Amino acid sequence: MVKIKIAKKSYTIPKEMLLLEALEYIKQHQDRSLTYRHMCRSGVCGSCAVKVNSKEVLACEYRLKEGDEVEPLSVVGVIRDLVTSKKEALESLKRASAYPLKMEEVEVTQDDITLIETQSDCILCTSCYSSCPVFEEKKEFLGPFALSRTYRYLADKREQEKKTHLEKVIKNGIWDCTLCGNCTEVCPQGIDPKGDILFLQSWAGRFGFINPSLGSFGSFGLEF
Ligand code: SF4
Ligand code: SF4
Repeated sequence: MVKIKIAKKSYTIPKEMLLLEALEYIKQHQDRSLTYRHMCRSGVCGSCAVKVNSKEVLACEYRLKEGDEVEPLSVVGVIRDLVTSKKEALESLKRASAYPLKMEEVEVTQDDITLIETQSDCILCTSCYSSCPVFEEKKEFLGPFALSRTYRYLADKREQEKKTHLEKVIKNGIWDCTLCGNCTEVCPQGIDPKGDILFLQSWAGRFGFINPSLGSFGSFGLEF
């Protein structure tokens, strides 16, 4: 028998098993009110992200052990039990305009694809938002995956509106990140938002944007 806690309630399951299997077992045999979200069961859809012992994991991939404490993701807003809202995090993609703005047909090599393929694998699980101390304090902060997605389009050879992408992430974006690395640590897809934000900061410098904490900032009209 394995004793665990889910959303502050105690449960006992017959053996160690995947967290998603345990949730289904409990719902079927012990507590029909237990509420959680899942879909693909194979780490692809990102819908079952929760926290175990304060660390973000996917329920379909995490194997439970004695004494584990399962909680909903932080910061993003609990709807019920383990179900959290993705609204604010998804809104940040729109606020950052983290989508193609003006793509042109140019020859793309395997090296060009390699540069952006990890960022393209984001499954929108929102684990990185849950782990981000800045997003916790300041909801206007664009947050890790919106900034990683901006990197993805800035590094895309076909995108012509690189400066516009940067303009969208200057305010409440790249300079607000403390580079703590929590987002990189929890990402189940191996995406490195912290590293992407560092690249964006360096690109911003090339376009003449200066970190406002270092003085005034603005564009001096520099171009790639
Ligand atoms: S590195 Fe930046 S974006 Fe990532 S969790 Fe820390 S503060 Fe948030
Ligand atoms: S960047 Fe990683 S942790 Fe953040 S939403 Fe995408 S897959 Fe999840």
